[in-house]
Amino acid sequence: MNKLSTFFIMATAIIISSCNPGGIKKEATEEKEFKVLVEQFADSKILRYQVPGFDSLSLDQKKLVYYLGQAALCGRDITFDQNYKYNLLIRKTLEAIYKGYTGDKETEDFKNFVVYLKQIWFCNGIHHHNSADKLTPGFSPAYFQILVQGTGKELIPMNEGQSTEAFIAEVSPLIFDGTIAPKRLTLDPSTDMVLASAVNFYEGVNQADVENYYDNRKKEDAKQRRDLRVAYGLNSKLIRENGEISEQTYRVGGLYSPAIVQIVSWLEKAATVAESPHQKKVIEELIRYYQTGDLVTWDKYNIAWVTDDSRVDFVNGFIEVYGDPMAMKATWESVVNFKDIEATKRTQIISSNAQYFEDHSPVAPEYRKKKVKGVSAKVITVAQLGGDCYPTTPIGINLPNANWIRKEYGSKSVTMDNITYAYDQASLGNGFIEEFAFSQEEIDRAKKYGHLAGNLTTDLHECLGHGSGQLKPGITGEALKNFHSAIEESRADLFALYYLKDTVMITLGLIPDAEVAKAEYDGYIRNGLMTQLVRIKPGKTIEQAHMRDRSLIAHWVYEKGKADNIIEKVSKEGKTYFRINDYDKLREKFGELLNIVQRITSEGDYQAAKELVETYGIKVDPILHKEILERYEKLNIAPYTGFINPVYTQVIKADTITDILISYPDDYTGQMLDYSEKFSFLPVR
Ligand code: ZN
Repeated sequence: MNKLSTFFIMATAIIISSCNPGGIKKEATEEKEFKVLVEQFADSKILRYQVPGFDSLSLDQKKLVYYLGQAALCGRDITFDQNYKYNLLIRKTLEAIYKGYTGDKETEDFKNFVVYLKQIWFCNGIHHHNSADKLTPGFSPAYFQILVQGTGKELIPMNEGQSTEAFIAEVSPLIFDGTIAPKRLTLDPSTDMVLASAVNFYEGVNQADVENYYDNRKKEDAKQRRDLRVAYGLNSKLIRENGEISEQTYRVGGLYSPAIVQIVSWLEKAATVAESPHQKKVIEELIRYYQTGDLVTWDKYNIAWVTDDSRVDFVNGFIEVYGDPMAMKATWESVVNFKDIEATKRTQIISSNAQYFEDHSPVAPEYRKKKVKGVSAKVITVAQLGGDCYPTTPIGINLPNANWIRKEYGSKSVTMDNITYAYDQASLGNGFIEEFAFSQEEIDRAKKYGHLAGNLTTDLHECLGHGSGQLKPGITGEALKNFHSAIEESRADLFALYYLKDTVMITLGLIPDAEVAKAEYDGYIRNGLMTQLVRIKPGKTIEQAHMRDRSLIAHWVYEKGKADNIIEKVSKEGKTYFRINDYDKLREKFGELLNIVQRITSEGDYQAAKELVETYGIKVDPILHKEILERYEKLNIAPYTGFINPVYTQVIKADTITDILISYPDDYTGQMLDYSEKFSFLPVR
């Protein structure tokens, strides 16, 4: 619900300005030789991120990062299995072939096989991580048969007594037959979304079964006077067995137990080096939750977590529900991090003025929060990514997701500065902005202010946007169903866009002048109307929530601003550009739309949400799309980005850990095979 994923960050310069007290300071000596871009395959590129400041942590803090980092890696196979029932079987089969195939590994076919395997690693399964479409291998079923037959039988994850032929007959269609599990996730309301989605949250049940099951649960819980605020279905698979529908809960002794046991064992170690008694309690509460699967305990954990302000911090659990067509069941993920104290000053200024922003927002007064609580915001340095956050990661997080906890206890908002920095480094000189920006002025502005503008937008989106506004009594976050995520992201983006151009930003010393906002507006409109389309295949529509959000906003303001020519579509030498003619009027339009989106959210107006998203957020103009793809292809840039994690090594002297060292591997395949070897705790079937 509350993640900000990457948009194209076009900035190339690092701004250190007296008006930007947070500053963006990097260790310049280190980065000069640091190779950010490691490799490209299919539509993806792999970057490395640095962890500046790790060496200055205390030994206990380093140990904490290490233990939490191991816990972050232990859940990897859970994410794979959640995404599709046969992901582990397929991945392990292909890994066995990669390592054990005795035939020629220099052929085109084998190279295409390797690309497919890398894509599966990248997407945590056989469906594209963004479009959710089944990946298409660049080799044939006949070649797959040759590969399996050319690999030692003992390496392939066959069933007991299964013949090689039977194994191939089982696995080959799963990989090659486009009609089997064509989409990991579909949000098309005209279909039975549960049946049409291959994601492994449901088995033997349809959409109506799911709705009935949880309706009944809620009724029963109401009768028993249980806590009805829990996130129903968050940590379980719903399955029909012998005619009965029941939940298989993710917990020690339940579904995914072998991996969860490992996560718990590292958390137990982490608890011994917690920074405070409060943080120790946080970790222990999470352990209790993993042991019981109890959602009331999960809420208790979140309440403890949101009020923990330790330097080293983490996300670990079944958190985001983007992967579930019913937006109930969460995919496992983890992020280990520590606070960037200098840069956090920037977000503290924003947070400490949260009430001002809320009171002056353009939404109807009854939908503003009377009292904005505990908007804790910080800039973090990511130390380890795991589960659904690896290798593609958000650049900001705002948690917990439970609205009632956010309302009563506040939420924690983070901007991942070392990740956005890696993006910026990678985008240096790749020609993208030069191709799509209308004028040299825009390009210069982006280079000068883009990084700051992007970070501030993330800060505002996370610190204030998601936490702003209030629902009408009796309305819950689920009212907007499959359109919830897109509307929620729009709300947060609009809040940020609206305020970025407010003079208060200058008064607070966050930006030097309005040029920063202009840089963001240029980039946002360009992205929403054009450049994000490079991530969409011809003939497809926009599925991903953040992309729908950006399309929705950009198209709405473009359409509604036509009378005043606020944004102009310009054709120059056969190429399309969008030029903003009036930045102040554009800001007013952002405000108008924020007001509308907040009303829809507050009132749970499903029809209006549907209309808004379907009119502006999903459709793609095929002619413009074709042009954008052609221009983009010439630049030879992979549209999706993933990261290699650093490696942490314990220095042990006389049975005592004396230090933790960090290193930065640059071999993606090596890291994947290493993880598969060390962190495979689940059965393939
Ligand atoms: Zn968000």
